[in-house]
Amino acid sequence: MKKLVILICYALIAVVFAACAAKSVHDAGKDTPVPSELPSLTETPDEVSVIEPVYLTPTPTPETAGVTLVPWDGIVEHLFFHPVITYTEMAFDGDSQEKGLDDYMVTLSEYEKILQSLYDRNYILVNINEVWSEYTNDSGQTRMKRNTLMLPEGKIPIILSYDDVNYYTYMLENGMTYRLMLGRDGEIWSYGLDPQGNVVVSQDLDTITVLDKFVKEHPDFSHNGAKGMLNLTGYQGILGYRTQTEKGQDSPEFEANRQNEIARVRPIIQKLKDTGWYFASHSFAHNNFEKMSYNGAVADAERWFAEVGSLVGETQVLVYPYGGRLDKGDFKNTGEAFKYYQSKGFRIFASVGNESFSYIKPDINAVICDRMHSDGYTLRRERERYSKFYDAAEVWDDSRPTGDEYPINW
Ligand SMILES: [Zn+2]
Repeated sequence: MKKLVILICYALIAVVFAACAAKSVHDAGKDTPVPSELPSLTETPDEVSVIEPVYLTPTPTPETAGVTLVPWDGIVEHLFFHPVITYTEMAFDGDSQEKGLDDYMVTLSEYEKILQSLYDRNYILVNINEVWSEYTNDSGQTRMKRNTLMLPEGKIPIILSYDDVNYYTYMLENGMTYRLMLGRDGEIWSYGLDPQGNVVVSQDLDTITVLDKFVKEHPDFSHNGAKGMLNLTGYQGILGYRTQTEKGQDSPEFEANRQNEIARVRPIIQKLKDTGWYFASHSFAHNNFEKMSYNGAVADAERWFAEVGSLVGETQVLVYPYGGRLDKGDFKNTGEAFKYYQSKGFRIFASVGNESFSYIKPDINAVICDRMHSDGYTLRRERERYSKFYDAAEVWDDSRPTGDEYPINW
């Protein structure tokens, strides 16, 4: 059986590093067994020790603070991350996955500094679903249009998105958190194991909880409560819960466990939605649409709707794995596979690029956009291009690997 794939979300980089990084991470993919030290996935959050949270004094939202709103018609920046590396000693340990992790991820400390830098440079988080909307033109056709955002004076809008928030098994082995959970306080926490194998439940170690805390402390970093877009595949479940069906796994025990995982993840999805997070499809199997047949693209969508969309709800955003477009790389071309996805409700088709490019299709109700990628690859090579967001030299984590294979061009 063809191995199902991985994390990496950009075609260009995937091409450049196909021989090394992509393959090494691929090897760590779906077929990797769950580590033996992984606690039972069926235990409930109450069975792990929940650290008592610190309750912060509620702060007024920008709306209530008497902020002047002004129109914004400029570029809406879009920056994406993968789940962060929490324990760098597990990721950067010289194994076959090290290079891919270095290329595609940022570390926890880098992520915290990047968020602070975005805030210091007056960026404000906006929801991608507010940036474009449908309208009916003079010919009676539905098309997309760019909206004028009304933002607090001096703020620059940015969309943050997060690919592969699935907590794949290779992530668990490489120093990332294991899953999201609801604490007894009803808040989102992360669950995981530290390098010594101790259970750690925290709000300081995970991509999502760190942004939650940051927005709590800096409410004017979020417009209308927006946080980030979570771009989910489904082949290893979602958000750390193994909700997927598996070929050849039709025993009552497997299904009972799967339903238990579904029951556990539902309230987490709801809490995320209640607190400014929203979801997009990142395909079911993380294959490259540019290399897929029409039937393959349809089958992947059907499985995503059945196993992921059924849990997270409707979305109008498709985030291409590897940045590989349904229109086969020509954004002015609208092929049959693209039309199929559009007919299923997708309106915003996001790839990866060197700028936050966007293009409203004239022939169909859809918008194409690119996202910039915050990761080790650009930290090492694109200091200038990303300097509007942060200075790579300032956010750089010294625990990243060094040597000929790991150049820095600044
Ligand atoms: Zn991906």
